[in-house]
Amino acid sequence: MSQGTLFVVSAPSGAGKTSLVRELIESLDGIQVSVSHTTRAKRDGEVDGVNYHFTDAATFEAMIERGEFFEYAKVFDNYYGTSREAAQTVLAAGQDVILEIDWQGAQQVRAQMPDAVSIFILPPSRSELERRLASRGTDEHAIIARRMRDAISEMSHYDEYDYLVINDDFTTALQELQSLVISRRLSISLMSERHAPLLATLLSQAPGVE
Ligand code: GDP
Ligand code: ADP
Ligand code: 5GP
Repeated sequence: MSQGTLFVVSAPSGAGKTSLVRELIESLDGIQVSVSHTTRAKRDGEVDGVNYHFTDAATFEAMIERGEFFEYAKVFDNYYGTSREAAQTVLAAGQDVILEIDWQGAQQVRAQMPDAVSIFILPPSRSELERRLASRGTDEHAIIARRMRDAISEMSHYDEYDYLVINDDFTTALQELQSLVISRRLSISLMSERHAPLLATLLSQAPGVE
């Protein structure tokens, strides 16, 4: 079985990546989101093991020591990381995997897996980003202010990515993400592996066949 594709999605907090990725994996088969570990506090409505594996700093640091992370970074003073297990067991089963990670993590992934497809999501304006962060209703004022401050440095990394999606109209942005996943699946390298028997038949020189 051929290995799945790794997709990396980054965006400033509030740009809509979690909502878009949730809809994307519901709309397509064969793609899953990797559940990260984090030391940040759980928001109302978040579920351990679904949104994140919520851990304390000592546990996270012990996992770093044991080399259990595929990538990790400090974002807004908290640790966030993708365990090797979260990403690689799914990929090995032939499924595509999406990582929702920051730019520091994306750099670590590119260094280890040059074939990963990376996508940056931008909001249509700064004011809309702030409106979305506030309207999500999950974070205190001070946390929103901190995330707005950090948004500019996160966004400055957009040109390290393969693709850029602007999340103005949600449906349009979702269709653009779907197109990126589908076009990757239609690449010659993946199609020639997946359809090897068909290609062999179509190209064979059997007598009597035009
Ligand atoms: P949200 O993006 O506003 O939903 O806020 P979160 O607290 O869920 O995520 C904060 C930041 O951490 C974002 O920039 C994410 O891209 C990043 N992040 C989340 N999970 C990971 C991870 O596993 N690895 C890395 N490197 N970054 C992560
Ligand atoms: P992120 O994961 O990047 O922090 P979220 O997916 O949590 O962002 O989205 C932040 C807020 O913005 C949520 O309340 C979400 O419903 C809303 N949102 C996302 N995309 C759009 C859009 N295109 N138009 C309007 N609101 C949006
Ligand atoms: P939030 O705390 O709002 O869920 O996430 C904050 C930021 O952390 C997001 O921008 C998200 O992309 C990033 N993040 C979440 N999980 C990971 C992860 O596993 N690795 C890295 N590097 N960043 C992450």
